[in-house]
Amino acid sequence: MLKLEDTYLHKGKRKALIALLREKGIKSERVLQAINTLPRHFFFDSALISHAYEDKAFPIGEGQTISQPYTVAFQTELLDVKEGDKILEIGTGSGYQGSILHLLGADVYSIEYQHKLYEGTKRFLKRLGIEFHLFYGDGTGGVPEYAPYDKIIVTAGAPVIPEALIQQLKIGGILVIPVGDKKRQSMVRIIKKSAKEVVREEFDGFAFVPLLGKDGWN
Ligand code: SAH
Repeated sequence: MLKLEDTYLHKGKRKALIALLREKGIKSERVLQAINTLPRHFFFDSALISHAYEDKAFPIGEGQTISQPYTVAFQTELLDVKEGDKILEIGTGSGYQGSILHLLGADVYSIEYQHKLYEGTKRFLKRLGIEFHLFYGDGTGGVPEYAPYDKIIVTAGAPVIPEALIQQLKIGGILVIPVGDKKRQSMVRIIKKSAKEVVREEFDGFAFVPLLGKDGWN
């Protein structure tokens, strides 16, 4: 088993990554601090560890990827995470994004569609000592058992916004979801103003793996 070791070299690379994220426009000190605290290389396959602090997405198995650090920072900033927020993540993947939310003091619920990733990440997070609620299944229907949520984050590219996700948001809650075709998406932020009214903002230029499942690309 891989030894989890955070060396000065890794810490130095992380610092440089934080400087780059700042340059690219990430402003939230809390978000930058969380990324600086969590060793991203722990979430990497041993063969790829030397790339862990590049601002790129990398394979995590099952044809899936750990999102680019800028994308994690951007989505997390849009979510405006407050201590104690109940947050649902669709697409657990490596567990990195969920761990960032956990570090920010959120009560995290995360669902993953690929069984192997769900099992592997569950074991790995336990070993890291980071524990939050993990589910296996299709997240396009949300996780109704624990709804409503303060915030919902989708970390795979959706063809449309699944209605269930808006339903499972509290009034005043925020949904952040990449929406577009299979190759390119815009980041959409929805703020639920009332049961019927939402405010929508959009930011261009993202590329996620496809959201599968009932309201995804299947
Ligand atoms: N947040 C992850 C990013 C993983 S990539 C991380 O920090 O590593 C997107 C993930 O979404 C993949 O693991 C993929 O299997 C998962 N996914 C795709 N469609 C899904 C669905 N309908 N429900 C839940 N997870 C889904």
